[in-house]
This record gives sequence, C-alpha cells and structure tokens, in this order.
Amino acid sequence: MSKVEEFLTHEEEQEIISAIRIAEKNTSGEIRVHLEDSSEKDHYERALEVFYLLQMHKTAQANGVLIYVAVKDHKFVICGDKGINDLVAKDFWNTTKNVIQNHFKKGQFKQGLVEGILKAGSELKAHFPWQVDDKDELSNEISKG
Ligand code: CA
Ligand code: CA
Repeated sequence: MSKVEEFLTHEEEQEIISAIRIAEKNTSGEIRVHLEDSSEKDHYERALEVFYLLQMHKTAQANGVLIYVAVKDHKFVICGDKGINDLVAKDFWNTTKNVIQNHFKKGQFKQGLVEGILKAGSELKAHFPWQVDDKDELSNEISKG
C-alpha cells in the first residue's frame, strides 16, 4: 500500500469532505485537499503545479485554496489563488498552517486537516463571504496523485 492509502481511512476522508462543505458555507472561497506520496520538486512548486492541474485557478473570484500534502515527505503546503493574495497579508495562512502542523506533529492527520479546513474557511470569510448565489465551483473530494 502506498503511504497515501494508509494516510486516512475512508471514514476520515468523509469527515474531511464534510469539513470542506461546512467551510464553504462561510465563504465563497473553494478549498481542496490533494495527497500524494512524495515529490522530487520543491513542495511549494509542486503545490502550485497541482493547483493548476486541478484547474483551481479558474474560480470566478480567484479564491481557490489548495492544501497539498506529500505524505511520505512529511510536508504540506497551503496555496491560495491570486484573488486572495491580492487582499491579504503575507502571513495570512500562518494561523491555518499552525493548526495543521500542531496536529500533524502528533500524527493526528485527519484532525489537522479538518481543523485546518475550518480555520481556512473562517479566515476567508472576512474577505470572501458566502453569497446566496454561491456555486460549488471546485469538487470537495480529496484528490490523490
Ligand atoms: Ca463556492
Ligand atoms: Ca468546493
């Protein structure tokens, strides 16, 4: 079994998908999670590449957010689209990063992702509140590759 397959149980994945749904009720921002074993590239570069591969740069307000995890490398990256970066300070994602990191350190991967996603949703709310005509622009499913 690859590390990705061992990372989360099916039930844990469902909890993460629910967290994305809940977070996206607070904000028009679109959150996705991508898991892979490892990357030979710099993890931030790879996260940006995945962001484009998943077509995350095509949201109406350019407010997609990818939480990328390289499971075997013990690395994760949060990467937000241009619409977000134009509005927020450079350290905007630090609170979310800390939430995830604190859980990951203890091996609580599901909890780290769930709480990180909820945190990201509440941080985004200030800049990108949920709108009545909201569309689920990007799938809430976890992608793997
Ligand atoms: Ca949406
Ligand atoms: Ca979504």
